[in-house]
Amino acid sequence: MPTEELKHAAAQYLMQTYARQPISIIRGRGSKVYDLEGREYVDFVGGIAVNLLGHGHPDLVQAIQRQAAQLIHVSNLYYTDPQVRLAQTLVDHSFADRVFFCNSGAEANEAAIKLARRYAHEKHGAGRFEIITMKNSFHGRTLATITATGQEKVQKGFDPLVPGFVYAPFNDFAALERLVSDKTAAILLEPVQGEGGVHVADQTYLKNLRDLCASRDILLMFDEVQTGMGRTGTLFAYEQLGVEPDVMTLAKGLGGGVPIGACLARESVAAVFTAGTHASTFGGNPLACAAGLAVCRVLLEGRVLDHARQMGAYLAKGLTDCKERHRVVREVRGLGLLQGIELDLDAKAVVADCLARGVLVNATGERVLRFVPPLIITQQEIDKLLDTLSSIFTQRAVSEKDAHH
Ligand SMILES: *Cc1c(COP(=O)(O)O)cnc(C)c1O
Repeated sequence: MPTEELKHAAAQYLMQTYARQPISIIRGRGSKVYDLEGREYVDFVGGIAVNLLGHGHPDLVQAIQRQAAQLIHVSNLYYTDPQVRLAQTLVDHSFADRVFFCNSGAEANEAAIKLARRYAHEKHGAGRFEIITMKNSFHGRTLATITATGQEKVQKGFDPLVPGFVYAPFNDFAALERLVSDKTAAILLEPVQGEGGVHVADQTYLKNLRDLCASRDILLMFDEVQTGMGRTGTLFAYEQLGVEPDVMTLAKGLGGGVPIGACLARESVAAVFTAGTHASTFGGNPLACAAGLAVCRVLLEGRVLDHARQMGAYLAKGLTDCKERHRVVREVRGLGLLQGIELDLDAKAVVADCLARGVLVNATGERVLRFVPPLIITQQEIDKLLDTLSSIFTQRAVSEKDAHH
């Protein structure tokens, strides 16, 4: 369908939950995508931190093709090999002992929330159910996860929300301590807040959280839906922040584009999920897990992770240089290939400018641009982003000056 027709049909048939960019993407290769008119874009959105291996990675494509031909889905009434092997791989390379599979980040967090409630209930009685989450966080769009999300804009109009959530300012341990009580079952947070504008958790803060949680048998739960699977330069962000959680959720990059989510936990916690306590029809199906295994194999082989670390450092340095040269850039924040810049101008306008120049970027909030490219992004592609940003900021500064004269 031609792009204009597609836009009209979308306006007619789809629930209008998204503000989309005015292009129709039909194909991708590596870190580039192509629209219907054949224009090329360097992809710094990566399907919102999903396409870890870029587009059309041969190992991923082959794994999906093979598995699709063999068996796509049979439900969790039966054993399937890819699910067990993916669980083993994740357990072998993390703090966790067991995995529950689902289909998205929100569902992974739902599982974590239910796990925390049940653990606290069994170990400490019905009076312990509260979960402390962070202001400015993002945990998904189901009713429980919008409640966990510390942003009013996602909750507005959906009350009554789920009881039992309280919010602490991010990176403020004293404020958090004041919220802890005999009711506290868990603390849930992102090691790097992604949707909230790319804010990295402080290491001392995390150590304090870890100690507090250990001393009171409160579960420390990391939402690594965005930061997991090499995004920050290590397989999981917690590895470089010096603190291990009790529960961790994954999704976005795990299937390299195929929907899959996972909730991982230590044995003592996972043990409260017995047969019949939680379930998902699609969760961990052979197709999604074959994709997850392909992504894990590539990452664990090592070169892509090394490359991601190097490119993360290169991008951060380039953005810092950009900040030095352009006063509209207020701050550069991030870890690995999850980077953001806070601007002195409307981020959405810059997104549109970048699109017109063949670069896909994404705004989180009004003033932050977020860069979450495939981990296979190249130095030349990063240069293209940096040159594009530089020329946009220069042009905006010039037209601003003209407007004043
Ligand atoms: C994207 C995201 C989610 C929600 O994932 P969905 O797959 O959209 O449900 C949850 N937590 C974090 C940290 C995320 O970045």
